[in-house]
Amino acid sequence: MVHNFNAGPSILPKEVFQQASEAILNFNNMGLSILEIGHRTNEFQAVMDEAQSLVKELMHLDDNKEVLFLHGGASTQFFQVPMNLLDESATAAYLDCGVWGSKAIKEAKLYGNVEVVASSKDSNYTYIPKGYDIAESAVYFHYTTNNTVEGTQMHAIPETNVPLVADMSSDILSTEMDFNRFSLIYAGAQKNIGAAGVNLVIIDKDIPGKVTRRMPTMMDYREHIKNGSMLNTPPVFAVYVCMLTLRWLKKTGGVKAIQQLNEKKAKLLYDTIDSLPIFHAPVAKEDRSLMNAVFTIADADAEKEFLSLCKAANLYGVKGHRSVGGFRVSMYNALPYESVVVLTDLMKDFANKKG
Ligand code: PMP
Repeated sequence: MVHNFNAGPSILPKEVFQQASEAILNFNNMGLSILEIGHRTNEFQAVMDEAQSLVKELMHLDDNKEVLFLHGGASTQFFQVPMNLLDESATAAYLDCGVWGSKAIKEAKLYGNVEVVASSKDSNYTYIPKGYDIAESAVYFHYTTNNTVEGTQMHAIPETNVPLVADMSSDILSTEMDFNRFSLIYAGAQKNIGAAGVNLVIIDKDIPGKVTRRMPTMMDYREHIKNGSMLNTPPVFAVYVCMLTLRWLKKTGGVKAIQQLNEKKAKLLYDTIDSLPIFHAPVAKEDRSLMNAVFTIADADAEKEFLSLCKAANLYGVKGHRSVGGFRVSMYNALPYESVVVLTDLMKDFANKKG
């Protein structure tokens, strides 16, 4: 059996793979593949409707929220957000707590003023800054809820009256929170929601449309809202895989149940790291991510040796991000607890062998 700890694209439920592959051959018993039907058919409209309503249900969203499935990955949201919300003379507040957040800051600067309220860059983003002020005049406050590369996660929603915008690419639907507190949430689908190629955007209906700049129709959130997320051809198959994954999540007990499993997996892994002196977790304990755990071994040869043991044991995706090194273990919603048991057993055996 293969254990998949990839950071994204990453593991999805086995039943989703099964159902998605069946739909490629014969979708809804139509005798046609999902890949060859029009997006304006009743059959695909039903997929889009169900995907949108499952997001609303699983996240307990109020009626003011629109659910969109857009192209371009989370990186497109780095600029689509400020293009729609930040006028040239206005200021947006950003928290700089990881490489992805810093990319969002870079793009926002193309459109208006950016005030970085706090940064943990000086310590290689190993903690989440706290105790910063967000000016009331900021048009929005942007942060990354989970830093996929560095393995940190924000465990509380910041207290502010400024509209919140969050990149939830790597922890969406993994933990319960008051999603209605956010004016805009975006997430690339390829971790907890589905296949790469689509972006989930949850947006307050009344937040876009206040900037003076002109923008391409495809970039304007209002056009996507008006057209029910079908302004142009959506990524049909990727949306279908999202719908299947959301169905699976609902059947599994929803966000509350998956949070318990995610906490159990993370506890086993972090307890193991903390109990074995050969491994070291550089991240501040209170900011540890439930989704992506980063850890190291001081000795470079031992690091290589452990990676080759992982490979031999069919543990995939354990190598750290190229900018951080060491190991990164991603434990997204679909990763079974047993995979973490296999990994931690291997870590214990390795530590024993190394004395
Ligand atoms: N934000 C976060 C937190 C991410 O983890 C990633 C991708 N791993 C991105 C943004 C960029 O996503 P995409 O590749 O879909 O543009």
